[in-house]
Amino acid sequence: MPADMQVNEYFSADYQQARRAFLDAALAAGGNVESFLNPASEQGGEQLFTDIALLGPEDAENILVLMSGTHGVEGFGGSGVQVGLLREGISGKLLPDTGLVMIHAVNPYGFANLRRFNEDNVDLNRNFVDHSQAYPENREYDQLADVIAPRRLSAYTDVSSALSVLWYRLRHGSARLQHAVTHGQYAHPQGLFYGGHFATWSNRRLHEIAERYLAGAARVVVIDLHTGLGPYAYGEVIVNDPEDAPAYQRAVTWWGEERVKSTIKGESVSAHLSGTIKMAFSRMLPDTEVTAVGLEFGTLPPMEVFKAIRAENWLYHHGGPDHADAIKIKQQLLRAFYPDDELWKYKVWEQGRLVVEQALVNL
Ligand SMILES: [Zn+2]
Repeated sequence: MPADMQVNEYFSADYQQARRAFLDAALAAGGNVESFLNPASEQGGEQLFTDIALLGPEDAENILVLMSGTHGVEGFGGSGVQVGLLREGISGKLLPDTGLVMIHAVNPYGFANLRRFNEDNVDLNRNFVDHSQAYPENREYDQLADVIAPRRLSAYTDVSSALSVLWYRLRHGSARLQHAVTHGQYAHPQGLFYGGHFATWSNRRLHEIAERYLAGAARVVVIDLHTGLGPYAYGEVIVNDPEDAPAYQRAVTWWGEERVKSTIKGESVSAHLSGTIKMAFSRMLPDTEVTAVGLEFGTLPPMEVFKAIRAENWLYHHGGPDHADAIKIKQQLLRAFYPDDELWKYKVWEQGRLVVEQALVNL
C-alpha cells in the first residue's frame, strides 16, 4: 500500500469539515452547488445541510448520481470518495453528453450527530415505501423487539439478549436473523431500522432533486455509498433487482460478476430490504433507464456493528447525551462505520473511484 497522505486528506473527522471539503472541491471543479437546510438545524444551533454539486451539461443525456450519508454516520466514507473524485479532476473526465450529480449528506442530522438514523429516528433506506398503503409487517422483528432495542442497557441485558439472539440463530439460521433484524420495520418508532410513517425531509428532497435535475435524462446511474457490511474494506455493489432484470444485467456487465450481488438471490452482504432509495429511483424516473446500486464497504464483524447501533440507539432514546458512557458509545458507533485506519480509507477510495470510472465508461 502506498503511504498516500493525499488520499487520507479526502476523509474528514466530522460533518462540518466534510461539508467544507465537499463544497470547496465542488466549486474548485467548476460545479454548481445547491444547499438544502435540514429542519433539525433549528434544535441544536448547528447548521446542517444536504449539499449537491452539479457537473457537466445541464441537459445531459446520461447522468451519474453519487450519494453519501444516506445512513448518517456512514457518510464519512462516502464523503471521502466524493471529495477525492472532485479534487482529482473527475469533471474533466466526463463525456460531452454526461452529467454528474453528487449528493453530499443525504441524512446530515445522522452524519453530524453520529447516528445511522435521521432526525425522526427513521432509517432512510426503509422510508421509500408508499405511505398511503398499509405498512409491511415484520413479525420476526416484533418477537425480538426488546432484544434489538432494549430500554435498559447493562451487563445483564447484554447477556440475556446475546442468548436470545443465539437461540434465534440456532433455530432459524443467521441469514434469517439478519433479515428479521435489518429488513425494516414500521411498528417500533424507537427501534432499529424503523421505516417511519411519512416521507421524511430527505425523502422529499431527493424527489425534488430527481424531478429537477434527472427527469430529462435518458439514462441515470445511481451509486449510493454505504459502510458497515461485508469483509473489511471490501466494496460490494448491491442490487435490489432480480437477476433477470436489465438493471442487474447492466450492473454485472459494468462492474463484473465478482463485485455485483443481488439481495433477491440472497447472496449479498445485505438482506433484501423494503423501501430502499435504490428502488425508489425507478419510480421517481419512470421514463428513464435507471441503474441504481449501493456500494457497501465492510468494516467490523456484523455482531460488533449491530451492538454499536443498538447501544447508540439506547443512548439516544433512554440514556441521554450526558450519560457517563455517552462519548464511548458514540465513538464505538463511529468506528463501526468509519475505521480509524489509513489503509481502510485508501481501499475505500481506490474501489470507489474504480466503480465510478467504470460506470462513466459504460454510460
Ligand atoms: Zn448503509
